[in-house]
Amino acid sequence: TRKGAVIPVLANVGCQEDTRAAVENGADGVGLYRIEQAYFGRLKPPGAEELLEEMNRTLEPAKGKSVCVRLLDIGADKPLPFLKFMAESNPSLGRRGVRLLREYPELLNTQLRTILKLSEEFDIRILVPMVTLPDDMGMVRGRLEKIASEMEVTSLPELGAMIETPAAALSAGELAAHSDFLSFGTNDLTQYTFAADRENAAVECYFDDTAEAIFKLMRITRDDVPGMPLSLCGELAGHPEHTARLLECGIETFSVAPPLIPGVKEAIRNV
Ligand code: PEP
Ligand code: MG
Repeated sequence: TRKGAVIPVLANVGCQEDTRAAVENGADGVGLYRIEQAYFGRLKPPGAEELLEEMNRTLEPAKGKSVCVRLLDIGADKPLPFLKFMAESNPSLGRRGVRLLREYPELLNTQLRTILKLSEEFDIRILVPMVTLPDDMGMVRGRLEKIASEMEVTSLPELGAMIETPAAALSAGELAAHSDFLSFGTNDLTQYTFAADRENAAVECYFDDTAEAIFKLMRITRDDVPGMPLSLCGELAGHPEHTARLLECGIETFSVAPPLIPGVKEAIRNV
């Protein structure tokens, strides 16, 4: 990390209460807006107008700060009524995140349109979940450019890849062709590196997001894409005892649950 560089501490949010708590706790912005909340419990997906209203409501307390919206990260493990036919034998290895968005282009188009509309009022960035192939990013980038040109939006929001699979961590060089920044999602990165379900207590001892294997993947990524902005929004970001080690791995932005912001800020000041 550059000496004297400011390390922003952002918040992970899902609803307006989170964003308000984040700002009260001194968040420098929103590093991960999980938009799943806007889709759960619905019989059909929200249209552009409804989605815009929901996103505006959630992000309103962070107006003026940088906000990073993650595209819908849904899969067969988080079922939605309108996708109920999608039974899979191994959901976490199936159509999650960007894989699902590839299959449902309208679901992606509506989100991109809404985010571009929102970018008139917010300082917005976009995150793509569950990336494995460089073309996952290429596809989203292409769609974003097309929709922006249709809407006559000339200044595109920055687009980032979530690094949540070992394949993504080991392909940063190729992902960089379509990415303005990368954000490690160590919850899933740990699940997929150790082949241990993050929700299954029976394999808890295999799920260690502080293991050297995870830090090694972060260092490999850092070394493959010098100059690429790297952030971290998995739970590991909220553990002050690992802050120094994460800074050494090149993490320049942390995003954590709102109550953890002061502790992480203090840990950064103490390094
Ligand atoms: C992660 O996987 O680390 C992450 C931040 O995404 P989520 O926890 O929403 O899967
Ligand atoms: Mg994840």
